[in-house]
Amino acid sequence: MIDDIAEKVYNEERISFDDAMRLFEHPNVTEIGLLADFVRQRKWPKDQVTYNIGRNINYTNVCWVKCDFCAFYRSPGSDEGYVLPNELIFEKIDEMVALGGDTVKSNEILMQGGLNPKLRIEYYEELFSAIRERYPQVHQHCLSATEIIYIAHISRLSLEDCIRRLRDAGLDSIPGAGAEILSDEVRDVIGFRKDRVSEWLDVHRIAHQLGMRTSATMMYGHVETIEQRVTHLEHLRNVQDEKGGFTAFIAWNFQPDYTDLGGDTSRWDGKKATGYDYLRTIAISRLFLDNIPSFQASWVTQGAKIAQVSLKYGVNDFGSTMMEENVVSAAGTSHTDAMTLQTMQRLIEDAGYDAVRRNTQYDLVN
Ligand code: SF4
Repeated sequence: MIDDIAEKVYNEERISFDDAMRLFEHPNVTEIGLLADFVRQRKWPKDQVTYNIGRNINYTNVCWVKCDFCAFYRSPGSDEGYVLPNELIFEKIDEMVALGGDTVKSNEILMQGGLNPKLRIEYYEELFSAIRERYPQVHQHCLSATEIIYIAHISRLSLEDCIRRLRDAGLDSIPGAGAEILSDEVRDVIGFRKDRVSEWLDVHRIAHQLGMRTSATMMYGHVETIEQRVTHLEHLRNVQDEKGGFTAFIAWNFQPDYTDLGGDTSRWDGKKATGYDYLRTIAISRLFLDNIPSFQASWVTQGAKIAQVSLKYGVNDFGSTMMEENVVSAAGTSHTDAMTLQTMQRLIEDAGYDAVRRNTQYDLVN
């Protein structure tokens, strides 16, 4: 029975940690979905689902952190390591702008890479300012907290000075990547060289204090317990209570293929999370994270059909067109080629909503 939790939801009362734990045990996922859809409709009353024209660009795959859940990185010195030349990055942006048009800041680049010991703050300042100069229509949504922490470290800067300099060079907002599960015990098992929870949270906290917007993510379905998933959500809710700088929440499950962790059943049960786990997790997150406005479908990991169903489980946004994806696809999952703009619009409309274009700040774009 979850009547008492439903009562809280209808009365706009916050649900507790224990409530979220109970929802993870509740056998009827559809009931949780109905509650999450109720909240989604209260926050987004129009029958609209938004999407964004954007492109992923992985500027380098060189990374010394070697997370056990990652199949994308190449160690420093590897023959397969790369740093994209700026001209190639510009070509990729040209392709996106051809699709997205010229409205200022209406096209998003999500530029992320590994922790490359050769790239200091000056590289990023030069690149971001060159993009800003050439492409006024592009919003630079770039770098994970993990990358920013490392750039600050090797450039001998405080986190705040580093974020300020990146922002002044052209960085518009920061994606939520690198959160995985916000638990140091989990990080010790799946990526012990990665930043600590407090460091990840600090990047977002500082960015919010500087007036920047960021997003929040969760990668679940590996070694974490349900309690650790809820603790993750609690960290996000607490930071959001401070300045409200998170625009959106995106969750996806661990993609195990070709990763060190994937084949190591001494550390996890080897069972990739199912679509039901995704729907349950995203719906409970919608109920728990009452202060984060947008929830984005992860079609790149869940596929078009589960992403479409998630629109009834608290999700109000279909995310970006992406155009290319190299991180999740390195771990054996790729839905990117099949997801054209027209397909995305059709999936939204077939679920009963108007497909409406937005920018990274969630303002609607004509
Ligand atoms: S997840 Fe990021 S930090 Fe970890 S190895 Fe992959 S690229 Fe490096």
